[in-house]
Amino acid sequence: MATKSKKAKNRKTTANTSTKVRRAKTAKLRGATPDATNPKRVAAILQRLDQTYPDATCELKHANPFQLLISTILSAQCTDVRVNQVTQTLYQKYPNPQAFAYANPSELEQEIRPTGFFRNKTKSVMGASKAVVEKFAGEVPRNMEEILTLPGVARKTGNVVLGTAYGIAAGVVVDTHVQRLSNRLELTKNHEPKKIEQDLMKVIPQDRWIKFSHQLIWHGRRVCIARKPRCAICSLESLCNAKDKTV
Ligand code: SF4
Repeated sequence: MATKSKKAKNRKTTANTSTKVRRAKTAKLRGATPDATNPKRVAAILQRLDQTYPDATCELKHANPFQLLISTILSAQCTDVRVNQVTQTLYQKYPNPQAFAYANPSELEQEIRPTGFFRNKTKSVMGASKAVVEKFAGEVPRNMEEILTLPGVARKTGNVVLGTAYGIAAGVVVDTHVQRLSNRLELTKNHEPKKIEQDLMKVIPQDRWIKFSHQLIWHGRRVCIARKPRCAICSLESLCNAKDKTV
């Protein structure tokens, strides 16, 4: 009896081992293990993103760094399309930082109401504009340390403005899409934007930070959508080992 159970145990161990090996091979093919952030896999992801989204850029319409700052503040919890609709007339009425800084708050609230959270956004827009006028001589700062002193501006907004308006790669924009996709693509195990950004800054070459952010956001909007990713048409599919893949 003892020998039989030993044999059965051995068979079970062998079966488990071959399942593990099979899984590891499949995962390896997809580049997920042992190290999903190895430079070769990351380079392959970047190459596919380049092929798929060669022209990816910020979708918030703006004529200068200040307008991009305001549009990015307004884009929190709101679509870029809606923000662009609102700013089309907003930037005519408020053509410079001074106009926003000393606006009538109740009027401004109503004007930006369609973007949601309009009371807080009005405070941030007016506060940031006032700081730009009074502390930075009307120019949006060109470095992360100073831009973070503007009311309502956190690293995401800072990265959008520095990257898109000034071409300065100070970090990686981590919005809801970058957050989700970085996890699905196993470029991070973290779920908190600050930690995700730190992880991405380690694995993505700095000269790709700006474009990579745009490309991931485009991919998140068009293909790797939150509820049901469109994996069947995804150019990253063979490199992706996400648990919620739909193929
Ligand atoms: S295969 Fe699916 S889950 Fe993976 S990146 Fe593409 S769309 Fe997203």
